[in-house]
Amino acid sequence: MSIKDNLEIVLEEIEKAKSHSLTGEDVRLIAVSKNHSIKSILEAHRYGIKDIGENRVQELTSKMEELDVELNYHMIGSLQRNKVKYIYDKVELIHSLDRMRLAREIEKRASRDNLDVNCLVQINIGKEASKEGLDYSQVEQFIYDLESFDHVKIKGLMAILPYSEDEQYLRSLFRKMYKLYEKLKEEGYQNTTMNYLSMGMSGDYKLAIEEGSNMVRIGTKIFGARAY
Ligand SMILES: *Cc1c(COP(=O)(O)O)cnc(C)c1O
Repeated sequence: MSIKDNLEIVLEEIEKAKSHSLTGEDVRLIAVSKNHSIKSILEAHRYGIKDIGENRVQELTSKMEELDVELNYHMIGSLQRNKVKYIYDKVELIHSLDRMRLAREIEKRASRDNLDVNCLVQINIGKEASKEGLDYSQVEQFIYDLESFDHVKIKGLMAILPYSEDEQYLRSLFRKMYKLYEKLKEEGYQNTTMNYLSMGMSGDYKLAIEEGSNMVRIGTKIFGARAY
């Protein structure tokens, strides 16, 4: 299957899921291009992709340098403090903000340039030892503590769900995320607005959208299997 055909299917399924989702809201599609070539990204761009996600800083920056088409870049993987300097002023959104030390580093860089850096707070919703992200119970305090960080702008939440065949279990986790998202939206913290709920990947994006996601990060379903 070509990238064009894959994209057609994904876009169709997004529309379908949206039509009976909790919110009916539009869904922003991030094409996750890690381990895929510049050629593949250009092809996806030709068929309408505007947002690209990468999970490693080195791969992200080298692809940015090479690509000369208009694209928004998303940092979706875990981010080390010493790599912030390479990306903070170049990305559309950092999806993986999950600790104060990282927030401090972003704030430091961004304030020097008097620049806003848009971030999502990553939550380890399945409580997996192998995954990054804040515990669900820590999120409000974290967002409260960020009120004094004038250049780190929180635009929403992000989660990577555990692998599971149990649809009800996955739905319950997506629902938990959506509830927290709505709660934080109502509470209205300084420097925080809840615009994006980034959840859903190739295996679970339909469920995610039905349960309120408005931003999905899809790799395999668009570009095919990754060769490592
Ligand atoms: C790789 C990756 C994705 C996309 O995964 P697929 O299963 O290939 O769709 C989404 N989010 C993050 C954070 C990733 O690292």
